[in-house]
Amino acid sequence: MTDGTPMAISKKLLNGNKIFREKYAKLMKDLATNGQQPKYAIIACTDSRNDPAIIFQLEMGDAFVFRTIGALISEHLGSDNEDALVQFTDAHLAFYSNAMSVPEIIIMGHTGCGAAQAIATGLDHKQISPWLIPAGEKALKRVKNKIPDTETDSPEFFKALEKEMVIVSHEHLTSYPIVKSAVENGSLKVTSLLHELPSGNLYELNADDGSFFLTNAKDFC
Ligand SMILES: [Zn+2]
Repeated sequence: MTDGTPMAISKKLLNGNKIFREKYAKLMKDLATNGQQPKYAIIACTDSRNDPAIIFQLEMGDAFVFRTIGALISEHLGSDNEDALVQFTDAHLAFYSNAMSVPEIIIMGHTGCGAAQAIATGLDHKQISPWLIPAGEKALKRVKNKIPDTETDSPEFFKALEKEMVIVSHEHLTSYPIVKSAVENGSLKVTSLLHELPSGNLYELNADDGSFFLTNAKDFC
């Protein structure tokens, strides 16, 4: 491309970028001059309906966003853990909570999650399954134990698994030494949520008992 003619990027994206450059000109200038100081790191399912910036109405510079299928986090199993995914996650967490002093990490799964359905029904996919099925195995086993008489391909099972995936990700996240020590010394808070489609309601995990409560009304579900 030599003449400035767009070759591949779609018109919708280019138009969006034009609006963005106009709308955010001042904020971007401030952020470019003064740097970023995000107050949140958000780990969310990659689903297009689970976009933290939109769900929380965030501004540029407010949050780091780390997205994985199902908002699943690998468990940290010790200092000599050489698992590439653990190292990948550890590097991001170090950046958020150490280098950038982010005071709050949020995990956000969601209802109607395709990852939960894939895990529950044992998706057989050449690229997706080798990571997703083992990543969801712990949550799947727990749900099978909790509701043994429920069919694994039923909406009730999917719903339970969506919650359990958030619980397991919360446990795994807090298994990382950098997160554990920051939580213990009070410099970091970890909040885990289930975003409900289509209401947009957020259910927060009570990590002490594995229950979820509606954050704006404190109704338990
Ligand atoms: Zn999802």
